[in-house]
Amino acid sequence: MRTTNRTRPLLLTPGPLTTSDATRAALDRDWGSRDSDFIALTGRLRVRLASLAGGADTHEAVLLAGSGTAAVEAALQSLVPRDGRVLVLVNGAYGRRMAEILLRLGRDHVVQERAEDEAVDPSAVDALLRADGRITDVAVVHCETTSGLLNPLDAVASVVGSHGRRLLVDAMSSFGVLPVEAARLGLTAVMASSNKGLEGVPGIGFVVAEREHLLTCAGNAVSLSLDLWAQADGFRRNGQWRFTPPVQVAAALDAALDQLDAEGGVAARGARYRRLHARLVDGMAALGFEAYLPPALQAPVIVTFRDPGPPFDFAALYDALAADGIVLYPGKLTRAPSFRVGCMGAIDEADIARALAAIGAHLGRWSVTIPSHGGTGALR
Ligand SMILES: *Cc1c(COP(=O)(O)O)cnc(C)c1O
Repeated sequence: MRTTNRTRPLLLTPGPLTTSDATRAALDRDWGSRDSDFIALTGRLRVRLASLAGGADTHEAVLLAGSGTAAVEAALQSLVPRDGRVLVLVNGAYGRRMAEILLRLGRDHVVQERAEDEAVDPSAVDALLRADGRITDVAVVHCETTSGLLNPLDAVASVVGSHGRRLLVDAMSSFGVLPVEAARLGLTAVMASSNKGLEGVPGIGFVVAEREHLLTCAGNAVSLSLDLWAQADGFRRNGQWRFTPPVQVAAALDAALDQLDAEGGVAARGARYRRLHARLVDGMAALGFEAYLPPALQAPVIVTFRDPGPPFDFAALYDALAADGIVLYPGKLTRAPSFRVGCMGAIDEADIARALAAIGAHLGRWSVTIPSHGGTGALR
C-alpha cells in the first residue's frame, strides 16, 4: 500500500509527478544553505546520484537549481569545448531542444533526424562519425518523452566509443527507472532531474559527468550560473552550492531516494512502472485506444495514444478528468494527433485502474465508443 493521499491530484504526465506523503513531508523544514547538515545532505545526494548513474568511482554529480532543461543547457555548454562539434540525434522534441540549445549557444552542431516512431540508428551514427572527423561529441535522448520511445543507448554508446568521441545522454525520464550505466558505457554525461522517475519534487536538474573530463572543462561555459565546471569545483572546495540552493527540494529528493532504495532500487522501480504500463495499455485497448508505438520501442514511463478523432474529444476528456483530480497530457508529436498518459510517479495499479474507470465513465456518459483496433501493444 503506497501512502499517497488520494485526495491529491493523480498526475499521469511526464512530470511533475504524483509524489508520496513522505517526500512532501520532507519539504516541511528550513535549512541554512551554509549549515553543516545541509552540506552533508548535498554531499549525500551527489554520491547517491553518481552511484545511481553507474558512475560511483568515475563520475561526479553536479546539481543545479532549475528544471531538467537547465541541466541539459549546462551540460552542453560546459562539457563540449567551445571549438567542438556536436552530432545531435533527434527523434522527438527533446532531441530537437538540444539542437536549439546549441544554436543559441552558437556551438557548431549537426543533426541526424529520424521519424518520431523510429529509434535512432546506431549504424547511421557510425557512418556519420566515420565521414565527419570534426565531430567531437554526440548528444542523444535515452527515453524520448515526446512519444515514450526508448532509444538503444548501449548500441549508440558502443559506436560512439569506438570512434573515440564523447557521448552526452539526456536521461531525464529514464533515470531511476531503467539502468543507465555511465562507467560501463563510457558516458561523458547523464542529465536528469529531481521530479521524474526519482519521484522528488521539481526544482533540481543535475548532470552526472565523467570526472576526468569535467576537470578539463574550465572556461567552456558561456553562462555564469550554468557552469558545471565551476559548480563541481565549488562542491569539491567547500561542499556548497554557488547560488541559493533549493534547500527543501534537495531534502525532498533525499527522502525520495530513501524510498527508491526501500522499493528495491532501479530494477524494482522499473518493474513497478512496467506493471503500471501493462495495466494502462491493456485498459486503454479495452476502451478502444491504440498505442502509437510498437511495443518493442516503448519505454515504461509514458504512453502516446492515437487520438481516434470525432466523436472522441481529448480536450473534453482532459477537462472532465481534471475535475476528478486526474491529469493526462496532450500529445507532442509533430504529425499524428495524439495524447499521452504517464505511468510514472508514486502511484500503484489501483491509481491506473481509477483513471481507466474514470475515462470509461466519461466516454459512457457521452456515448462515445471507439472501434477496436486489434492488438494491445502492451510490453511483455
Ligand atoms: C522532461 C524532459 C526534459 C525537460 O525537463 P524540464 O524539467 O521540463 O526542463 C528534457 N528531456 C527529456 C527527455 C524530458 O523527458
